[in-house]
Amino acid sequence: MGHLVTLVPGDGIGPEVTAAALLVLDAVGADIDWDTRHLGSSALDRGETSAVPAGTVESARRTGCVLKGPVSTSRDGGFRSPNTGLRRELGLFVQLRPVRAVPVAGGSAPPLDVVVVRQTGEDLYAGWELAPGSPAAVEALRAAGADDVSASGVSLKAFSPAAVRRTAEFALRWAQAHGRRRVTVVHKATVMRETDGLFLRVCRQVAAERPGDGPTAGVELDDALVDNACAQLVRRPAAFDVLLTGMLYGDVLSDLAAAVAGGVGLAPGAAYGPDAAVFEAAHGSAPRHAGQDRANPMGLIRSAALMLRHLGDGERAARVESAVDAVLAEGRDLTYDLAPGTPVGTRRCAEAIAERAASSG
Ligand code: NAD
Repeated sequence: MGHLVTLVPGDGIGPEVTAAALLVLDAVGADIDWDTRHLGSSALDRGETSAVPAGTVESARRTGCVLKGPVSTSRDGGFRSPNTGLRRELGLFVQLRPVRAVPVAGGSAPPLDVVVVRQTGEDLYAGWELAPGSPAAVEALRAAGADDVSASGVSLKAFSPAAVRRTAEFALRWAQAHGRRRVTVVHKATVMRETDGLFLRVCRQVAAERPGDGPTAGVELDDALVDNACAQLVRRPAAFDVLLTGMLYGDVLSDLAAAVAGGVGLAPGAAYGPDAAVFEAAHGSAPRHAGQDRANPMGLIRSAALMLRHLGDGERAARVESAVDAVLAEGRDLTYDLAPGTPVGTRRCAEAIAERAASSG
């Protein structure tokens, strides 16, 4: 009996890139049984009454592992972000975005190999908002000493010690388990003392409390201001190993790193909670390209490799990752976003990776 994994094909280019990932997983003989479920508009189209159906959440809790295509957010505000809904339901508290640059089509690659670890659920992305002129907004602005209290909108940024502690512990353990040597806390504590200052303080406490021979020993913790970290990522990409930060800076840093490494279509991702892990590419559903056999499937294929590692199959994960690197280096079977010459489609790119991965077994 193989691993049971929940599969969410997603919207837009989602079904095409998930089909590509399944092709590659089949090629390496990954022993996985899929429980296919839906989320967002594709769930509503199938007659579900919620964009985050109870059956999808129940499946994710039962299998403990989800491979997910991107899901569109409702443009007209018809439903709340299904991604946020799933994150809340599963208690996903941390997100990982590894970004590694490899040479494309005989070119050179910058020395970039970073993993962005984002705390999720707090920070400006939590959706804690106060409408302009509402009594809560007026009160909060007055208490903070703002100038225009009657007409300003408010988005709240907050970090709690317990949530930051859990993320910092995860980052240090993950770094140790994956042979990483340094975790850099990215912040702007010089300006936002009550939030970024707290984030940095708690991370330092967690690092200081570690026993010398525990599961996070040997990993160094330092920090960088977010503006400097962005500049260094571009100018000296080798300067960083693991970046530990909140949701907003993590979003910017991982997209910046992905762009330096070759494009958002290449970047994988994973999110972890107490009951389940979700593996998905960093990109969205790119509705413009949907159904055209055009999207780059490598972000989700690399996410599937992260999933194999999570399931304890490091050998097949390495074969998938090497096959992606080889297809990038050869440059013959690349999609439009990477191809220097004539691009191939999503399907052909996945077939080339699958052929490589199968022959390396
Ligand atoms: P996007 O990542 O979907 O697309 C931005 C642009 O990046 C595209 O127009 C395309 O040019 C390029 N791109 C993205 N993925 C690509 C790929 N695999 N291959 C080649 N090119 C690719 O971002 P967006 O336009 O801001 O969002 C579109 C929808 O996706 C929105 O509804 C958004 O809410 C949703 N979204 C979902 C997730 C998720 O499910 N995890 C993440 C981000 C955005």
